[in-house]
Amino acid sequence: MKRTILIVEDEKDIVKMLEYNLQKEGFKTLSARDGEDALDVAHREHPHLVILDLMLPGMDGLEVCKALKGDSKTAAIPIIMLTAKVQESDKVIGLELGADDYMTKPFSPRELVARIKAVLRRMTEKGPSAEVMKIGELTVDFSKIRVLVKEKPVELTAKEFELLKTLIKARGRVLSRDYLLDTIWGFDHAIEIQTRTVDVHIRTLRKKLKSEAKRIITVKNYGYRFEEE
Ligand code: CA
Repeated sequence: MKRTILIVEDEKDIVKMLEYNLQKEGFKTLSARDGEDALDVAHREHPHLVILDLMLPGMDGLEVCKALKGDSKTAAIPIIMLTAKVQESDKVIGLELGADDYMTKPFSPRELVARIKAVLRRMTEKGPSAEVMKIGELTVDFSKIRVLVKEKPVELTAKEFELLKTLIKARGRVLSRDYLLDTIWGFDHAIEIQTRTVDVHIRTLRKKLKSEAKRIITVKNYGYRFEEE
C-alpha cells in the first residue's frame, strides 16, 4: 500500500522538490498551497502524514496545526512542521500544538524522508500496544487473529478481521471508504462498485459482532469509525 503525504507549502519549488523526493521513495503525494486548502484536502483524503510549512498565506502553519489536531477526524494524522525561522519559540509552540516533528529550512530531502519514516513507524507502534484488547464485551486478540463476543468465539473472514483491526487501531478516527479500500483491499482509486465492498463487509461484520456491533458507527456519505466508549 502506498502511503499518502500531504505537502502544505506555498513555495512551488519546495513543493516540487518534496514531491520528487517522496515519490521516489514510494509515497503518494498531495499538495495544498494554503491553510484552508490543507484542511479541505486533509478531511477529504485522509493522508498518512502532513508536512506543514509554518509560513503560509492567510492562515499560518500553527493555526493549521491547531485546526487539524483539534478536529477528531484529522487529530491522529501526524504532522512534521517546516520553517525558515530558527526560532525556538515556534518549535515549542508547534510541538505543544501536537506537531510530531520539526525541520528547519534549508533541509536535506534525505533527512526529511528519514524523519517521515520515523514518525510513521512510531505511529504504527503507538497503536494499541496490547496484543489483546478488551472493549466492552468484545475481545480482540491481534496476534492470534481471534475475536470473542461475550467470551464466545466469532468466526471472521480475513477481510472482516482486517476491517475490524483497522477501525480499532484508528482509535475513534473516522476512516473513509476509500481509505479502507486502499488499506485493506489495496485499491488505489475506488469506483462505486468497490466502495460498496466496504459496506457489504461492514454489514456482515456487524451481524457477527452482535451486541458489540453498535461500536461500528456509520458516518454518512463518508465512512466508518469505531467507538470504544
Ligand atoms: Ca511557505
